[in-house]
Amino acid sequence: MSYIHETISNLKNTSPAQAEFYQAVEEVLDSLAPILESNKHYQQQAIIQRLVEPERQIMFRVPWVDDEGNIQVNKGYRVEFNSALGPYKGGLRFHPSVNASIIKFLGFEQIFKNALTGLPIGGGKGGSNFDAKGKSDGEIMRFCQSFMNELYRHIGPTTDVPAGDIGVGAREIGYMFGQYKRLTGRYEGVFTGKSLLWGGSLVRKEATGYGVVYFAENMLSVKQESLKDKKCLISGSGNVAIYAIEKLYQLGATPITCSDSTGTIYHESGIDLALLKELKEGSRSSLIGYLEEYKEAQFIPIDDYPKDGHAVWRFSADAAFPCATQNELTLADAQALIENGCQLVSEGANMPSTQDAINTFIEAKISYGPGKAANAGGVATSQLEMAQNSSMQTWSFEQVDQRLQEIMKNIFQTAHKTSIEFGQPGNLVLGANIAGFKRVADAMLEQGVV
Ligand code: GLU
Repeated sequence: MSYIHETISNLKNTSPAQAEFYQAVEEVLDSLAPILESNKHYQQQAIIQRLVEPERQIMFRVPWVDDEGNIQVNKGYRVEFNSALGPYKGGLRFHPSVNASIIKFLGFEQIFKNALTGLPIGGGKGGSNFDAKGKSDGEIMRFCQSFMNELYRHIGPTTDVPAGDIGVGAREIGYMFGQYKRLTGRYEGVFTGKSLLWGGSLVRKEATGYGVVYFAENMLSVKQESLKDKKCLISGSGNVAIYAIEKLYQLGATPITCSDSTGTIYHESGIDLALLKELKEGSRSSLIGYLEEYKEAQFIPIDDYPKDGHAVWRFSADAAFPCATQNELTLADAQALIENGCQLVSEGANMPSTQDAINTFIEAKISYGPGKAANAGGVATSQLEMAQNSSMQTWSFEQVDQRLQEIMKNIFQTAHKTSIEFGQPGNLVLGANIAGFKRVADAMLEQGVV
């Protein structure tokens, strides 16, 4: 496997200090050995070397004025990673942890995720180290406008179509779209995840969370099982977690945890979804407020988390849905989950499990749905939003949800079939990585050295 070592050491020289990016690349390359062995032309045509280098990376200054009149400066990013299958597509993340490594790992994952959907979308990602916590609505608007003052020249409905991610929801997309329209004078489908009032698609808000649960249901169906009556652990309390919880209830499961940056809630009889939405969708207050309604629930503050991982994964349950952020599930967490009888992990976040946690799941032969397959419902529904925008149509909730269910089923079947074809039945990491890679790599071969 010298090509892995060679690629990573090259990246360390040419793109130093990007640990998360190397992690994402290594995870994909690890799976590709069998397909690279049997198809020498991928190596002859330098497909790996081309894939790990973004087609274009844009970094820019985002200056803005806060409510006190002080000038603030943030960093802005857009990484246009690969356009072999379509316009660059992927979200924008606003979070203090954002740096070039985070955006590149997300953009790299996005290439394969988008390829797996079977839809015509390339991979990209962007964002800023802007911290929305404690900012007023006016500050958020001024920041979004400044961000768009640079980004607008790089995006367009057939070139690069951003959407949301952590810290970027309907409000931020509204402000950015408004500024794009002012700068360009064009009213077009340059964003997805838009408000339903002006070009958004039904189900887009719910799509990632619903999709993660549909993916889990597909994984269980090959074992003649279902989510009904299963106890489920969920991390996070943002858009993905909320709609995963909603779909789990609809399918007869009981979600018993959720978390935010302050701590974890454990509620044995089931998380109160209406209360969670009230706490998080509007005012974005801390989960500790949950205890005011439910004295019997437990709140574990982050200061009390185990040193080697996350409190949420230490409870006993049948299934786990990491829906918060990267590397939130460690080796010790994976071991605890398995010891406590967990049979399924379906990832709503991007790269939430560390590499040794993933290996633990695969060795234990539990159902494990990696993020780039399990959480692809969000971006897939974004493409359905693009299709509606460009044909000037709006589809019903049922129509979009039906398409989403079909897409999730297809992604599962493609990954599952590929895992069988390459001799590791049920290893969906291998299946998803090879199937996604093949689609992008074959398109790149046909398009020549560009
Ligand atoms: N940020 C989401 C993801 O990680 C959605 C991207 C999109 O809809 O373009 O896939």
